Amino acid sequence: MERVQAGHAPMLGKRVELGPPRDGRFKGKHILSVNQFSREDLEYVFSVAEEMRTAVELVGTFDLLKGKVLACLFYSPSTRTSSSFIAAVERLGGSAIPINEVKYSSVSKGESLPDTVRTLAAYADLIVLRHPETGAAATAARYSGKPIINAGDGQGEHPTQALLDLFTIRHERGHVDGLTITLLGDLKYGRTVHSLARLLTKHDVKVRMVSPETLRLPRDVLEEVRSRGLMVTEHASLEEVLPDTDVLYVTRVQKEYFDDQAAYDAVQGSYVITADTMRRARKDMVLMHPLPRVGEIAMEVDDDPRAAYFRQVQYGLYVRMALIAMVMGRA
Ligand code: ASP
Repeated sequence: MERVQAGHAPMLGKRVELGPPRDGRFKGKHILSVNQFSREDLEYVFSVAEEMRTAVELVGTFDLLKGKVLACLFYSPSTRTSSSFIAAVERLGGSAIPINEVKYSSVSKGESLPDTVRTLAAYADLIVLRHPETGAAATAARYSGKPIINAGDGQGEHPTQALLDLFTIRHERGHVDGLTITLLGDLKYGRTVHSLARLLTKHDVKVRMVSPETLRLPRDVLEEVRSRGLMVTEHASLEEVLPDTDVLYVTRVQKEYFDDQAAYDAVQGSYVITADTMRRARKDMVLMHPLPRVGEIAMEVDDDPRAAYFRQVQYGLYVRMALIAMVMGRA
C-alpha cells in the first residue's frame, strides 16, 4: 500500500493509505450540528482534510471508499453543497445517488421524509440531506438506519459549511485564535452564520455581527454563543468595525424567507463590498462568502488576493471528503 507524502507521487491505480490509523470516533455517526464537535474533533477533521487535499493533488481520485454509495437528497436548491458531496464521494472511489430535484421523485406524490429516508437507507451507506425545515435532518436521523449528514436544514444549521469556513480561515491566516471576525449581512435567516458562530465558541476570537436592524442574529442563537463565552458585539455599520477586521464573512439576504418583495428590497443591497471597501480594509484581511453572492461583493473585488471565496469552495471539497471518510470509518 502506498502512503501519500508530499514529493512522493504514487502511481495512478495504486491503493492509497491516508495517514496514521485513528480512533474512528465519527464512524457511523450522524452529523447534524456543529455543537457535536469538540476542539479536539476539529483538529481531527482538519488533519484528515489536509490529507485529502494532498491525496487529491497527487492522484486526483483513489479507492478509499470503493463500493460505498452516498445518497444526496436535496429538497431545496444547491450548487456547491450537492456537487461537492458528489465530487467528494467519487474522488474517494465511491458513487452517488443524486436527487437534486425532489419534484421528480416520489416526494411529489406526497411521500413523507421518514419514508423517503428509510428507502434511501436501504440502497446507500450514507445520506446527505438538505431540507427547507429546521430540524429536518434530526427527524431524518430518527428514521434512517444509515448516517445522515445535515447539508442545511432551513434556517437551522449548515455544519459542513461552517467546518469548511473554519478550515478556510486556518489556511488563509494560519490560525483562528486571536482573530477579529466580522459576520455581515443576513444574520437572521442565514444558517451558515448560525453554525459558524457556534463553531467559533470553541476559539478565542472576537466576533462583530453587522446587519440591518431587522436581520440581526436570532436572540436565542446570540444567547447560546454568549453563554459559551463568545465575545460578540452587534453593529449596523461596517465602517466602525472594518479597520480591526481580520476576516470579513459576507452573506446574502435570504430572499426565500421574505413574504413580500418590498421587505426584501428594503434590506437587499444594505452592504456592498467594493474595491473602495477593500482599500480601507486591512492588507491581510480575508474576505469570505458561503456563496451564492447576489451583489454583496462587487466582481471588481475578485482579483484582490484577499478575496478567498473561490478558494473557500475548493477547501470545501477536502473537508467534505474528510467527513464522508470519517463517517464511513475509513479515516
Ligand atoms: N449556500 C449557503 C446555504 O445553503 C448560503 C446561501 O444560500 O446563502 O446556506
